Amino acid sequence: MQITKDAVALIHYTLTDDEGKTIDSSAGGEPLAYIHGNGNLIPGLERELEGKGEGDKLDVKIAPADGYGEFDKALIQQVPRRALKGVGNLHVGMQLHAQSEHGVRAVTITHLQGDMVTLDGNHPLAGKNLNFKVEVVGVRSATEEELAHGHVHGPGGHHH
Ligand code: ZN
Repeated sequence: MQITKDAVALIHYTLTDDEGKTIDSSAGGEPLAYIHGNGNLIPGLERELEGKGEGDKLDVKIAPADGYGEFDKALIQQVPRRALKGVGNLHVGMQLHAQSEHGVRAVTITHLQGDMVTLDGNHPLAGKNLNFKVEVVGVRSATEEELAHGHVHGPGGHHH
């Protein structure tokens, strides 16, 4: 069976940045199971996996536009510490959920200087090429229940 819309695909993957640093990997654990064609993976990776089958291996570089988007300077803002009153122990790398005019957005503290806190609303991988090594380890049809829930049940997926 090939990977097409609404198929459940199980993949092992390793994601590295352009410097060769591993960002994420399924190695040593369960493969990632996802329902294909439903926006569960970044668009560039879903496109590469379309039509592939069990045993297929891919080595692909995905540009930011097909990954987590381009880096957007407009999403960086500085706020005084007092605006974050109630949030304890502010530190670089900390993730917060900020209310914005577009709803709740995840932001990361990227800089602390004096009374000012720099918040970055970009995805941590925005603006980065994503280098994926992927091996397809299984493909099957999704059940009605999985399609209704929008996620995979069993190995590599939800257990409930
Ligand atoms: Zn479910």
